[in-house]
Amino acid sequence: MLSFRRLALLPLLLCLVGSIQCRRAAAGNGDPVEHEAEAALVSYLRIDTSNPPGNETAGARFLQQLLAKEGIEATLVGSDPNRQSVYARLVSGSDEKALILLHHIDVVPANTAEWTKPPFAGIRSGGYIWGRGALDIKSLGIAELMAFVELKRRHVPLRRDVIYLAAADEELGGVNGCGALLEQYPELFANAGFVLNEGGYNDTIVDHVPFWGIEVQAKVPLWLRITMKGSAGHAASPPDDGGTMAKLVRSLDAIERIPTPYRLTPAVARAFHRAGKARQDERGEVLRGIADPLDVARIERVLSPGYRSLLHDTIAITRISGGSAINVLPTTASADVDIRLLPDETAAPMVARVKETLPAGGDLQVLLAGQPVPESPSDTELFRVLAAAMTKAESGSIVAPVVGGGTSDSRYFRARGIVAYGIAPFKVNYYDADTVHANDERIRARFFAEGVRLMRRIVADFCAKGVGSRESEAGDRSAAGHSSDPRPPTPDTRSNQ
Ligand SMILES: [Zn+2]
Repeated sequence: MLSFRRLALLPLLLCLVGSIQCRRAAAGNGDPVEHEAEAALVSYLRIDTSNPPGNETAGARFLQQLLAKEGIEATLVGSDPNRQSVYARLVSGSDEKALILLHHIDVVPANTAEWTKPPFAGIRSGGYIWGRGALDIKSLGIAELMAFVELKRRHVPLRRDVIYLAAADEELGGVNGCGALLEQYPELFANAGFVLNEGGYNDTIVDHVPFWGIEVQAKVPLWLRITMKGSAGHAASPPDDGGTMAKLVRSLDAIERIPTPYRLTPAVARAFHRAGKARQDERGEVLRGIADPLDVARIERVLSPGYRSLLHDTIAITRISGGSAINVLPTTASADVDIRLLPDETAAPMVARVKETLPAGGDLQVLLAGQPVPESPSDTELFRVLAAAMTKAESGSIVAPVVGGGTSDSRYFRARGIVAYGIAPFKVNYYDADTVHANDERIRARFFAEGVRLMRRIVADFCAKGVGSRESEAGDRSAAGHSSDPRPPTPDTRSNQ
């Protein structure tokens, strides 16, 4: 039943929801907000924020100016002038926990020679918007920005503060981005209760999404650098141990062979059970039946590496450097190793095992060591709003909490007890998802527009006065469908590290 207060707000609500629906109807003919979003994304993609070195300040200024045009004061924050983040807050006057709309400004580097289009040109072609960051994750940053400014443009009465945060340095671990901001500027995060960030995924079958995975937990990153030191020499007379490069190769072989046994953690078990329930093939059977003791042979035969990565630590050698000429033995050789630990593990045991592989002259440097952080609960109003909006966007679709195999800035917030969800509002076909952190990264323009619409709905539903409870009731109904996931999540469309 509507209270008097709600009745008083009804015209505003009808205006807001009506506006979204009218815009939805008009989208095919060119919704102005969606055109505006596409233009903003193209401009954002033209700013090279490759990390390293980052140069996020250029991207931060661009976002700051977009916000300033709307009369929203945005602040550049961070101790390094070249590595600034952007922060803006819409104040509600309410004590309800604030929502942070988070994305990262930096992108991974692009090898221009391997792209068919220049990676920092923001080219529109063939129904796509091309550029490094199109999927990871400038698209989300613009969708969040459009949702944020719309609250201001429409003078929407807010029932909670809404924070827009575009952060530096996520791609290299976020220590100089969200990690530092939370440490050094705690006042910016006063009363923050929720974060929407990259992560999660959706299954996109042609142009339909039957499954949306909302990331509530992720694996723990452990990034190591192995360095071998020795004497320089002529390659025609190598020492008995083969020199620094040979020693490095032997160590890497030993590191790669460190046992990483399968182990089932509670959140992964829940996610797999849901994913497998409605799938009738053998993969569905393995997923829904997953339990201790694990049937390792069957898991290895049936599940893809993406699923299996959630059942064990993974070790990937990603970079080897050293040497200057074919006939010179180098004094130094090094390699980077990207390890992802199961969500409840600390780094120390794996670091000790890696150290055991090193010979005399070998050195280990920890570049990044995450910590296990609590899983974000999925029995929140925000989860229900997400579920309602996603099932409304794709009728018959299922929304379920999932565990991420990658990592993101969400871990800094989860560590502080702030509920952080990784979401993937844009449909992404599997062949486009493969361009994340790879060549020819691109987003389908239509899917981008639809994702912008979805973000606007989510933010309005969660933050506008009087909307949330109505949407939550719808969300309760759709969330009840969690256990009948019609397809397994395919962890292939992640946009995080
Ligand atoms: Zn990312």
